[in-house]
Amino acid sequence: MMREKLSVSVIGATGIVGQNYIKLLRNHPWFQVTDVAASSRSEGKSYAEAVRNKWQMSVNIPENIKNLIVREAHDIDSIDPQIKFVFSAINLPSKEDVKELELNYARKGIPVISNNSAHRWTPDVPMIIPEINPEHINVIPIQQKNRGFSKGFVAVKPNCSIQSYMAPIYSLQKAGYKVDKMIVSTLQAVSGAGYPGVSSLDMIDNIVPFIGGEEEKSEMEPLKILGTVGEKGIINDDSIKISSTCTRVPVTDGHTACVNIKFQEKIPSKDEIIDIWRSFRAIPQELSLPYAPEQPIIYLENENRPQPKKDRDNDKGMAVTVGRLRKDQVFDYKFVALSHNTIRGAAGGAILNAELLLKKGFI
Ligand code: NAP
Repeated sequence: MMREKLSVSVIGATGIVGQNYIKLLRNHPWFQVTDVAASSRSEGKSYAEAVRNKWQMSVNIPENIKNLIVREAHDIDSIDPQIKFVFSAINLPSKEDVKELELNYARKGIPVISNNSAHRWTPDVPMIIPEINPEHINVIPIQQKNRGFSKGFVAVKPNCSIQSYMAPIYSLQKAGYKVDKMIVSTLQAVSGAGYPGVSSLDMIDNIVPFIGGEEEKSEMEPLKILGTVGEKGIINDDSIKISSTCTRVPVTDGHTACVNIKFQEKIPSKDEIIDIWRSFRAIPQELSLPYAPEQPIIYLENENRPQPKKDRDNDKGMAVTVGRLRKDQVFDYKFVALSHNTIRGAAGGAILNAELLLKKGFI
């Protein structure tokens, strides 16, 4: 359908999420990475040299990326004018600096699709999971008008820890079973902390029961994702109350969540819930977007699944895998959900956002 691939940039290209972009985009039918940027530590080096001691992917660095010279991410003036948009996987000490940096790209007319949390609470910035709230991209013209941007904008994807249960919850709400309350306990992989991340002495034979800022994100971000587009930006849906505990566990990739849910009124049967999950399809599947999983929610009957090692790569790491649905003595039901944090929860999720934005004419 597309004659020429669009040239894209990855900023923060040398980190864990950045490396995932390089890996996942190496055979992408619509996009090709032609620009990489990171900190002044990597500036001026070839990409291969910059990641020489920290390449974590299971594939070799693609040949067409190895010799790209790393740009300093703040040096926007020297970006190739052919770049159509930027994937941001940047991590700066201050969120305000990330906000400003991403807005500077947008000011320059370059759309930014970000993994960083800096703009997740900016009301005129959409926070998209394409299976759930694709209509939130309609806030982009409001953002462009508010800020005087011509064709640039910032769009973000939400936190990795909520990915495994948001589609299961949304699909139930869409089927008419409104959720009232949830208690979520996550067991999050070490790759979620970036590279070098958490020290091995803290992680081996251990569980760390605190991840800074994560519980706040997982209690608040769903409210924006389930919200509606208003005149000035997204209006949150605060009808669900969420309480979460987030822990770091010695797993390389794949965030697991144990979820208890209470419905507002109508309570579905177990068979209905499994049927709703298995038959759930949305815009990415209807549009056959290249990075869309065929079946966004996979339900496994085996009582010892999902497991990170066995299930995180389901449907190229883009499906969420759910199991252990059972009655809860305190709430109505409980289940275990899993998603790949650096694919569905980061680079893959953002690539799907870019595909949606391209199909809908925003880039
Ligand atoms: P990371 O491994 O620490 O990588 C950070 C990247 O930012 C590197 O490319 C680094 O470049 C660059 N950087 C650091 N300081 C910089 C500076 N002063 N100026 C310009 N560039 C700078 O982090 P990550 O795990 O990939 O995460 C990246 C972002 O995605 C974070 O906002 C994170 O919260 C978010 N995220 C991560 C995950 C996950 O599972 N890991 C999931 C969802 C969202 P150098 O190599 O040159 O230092």
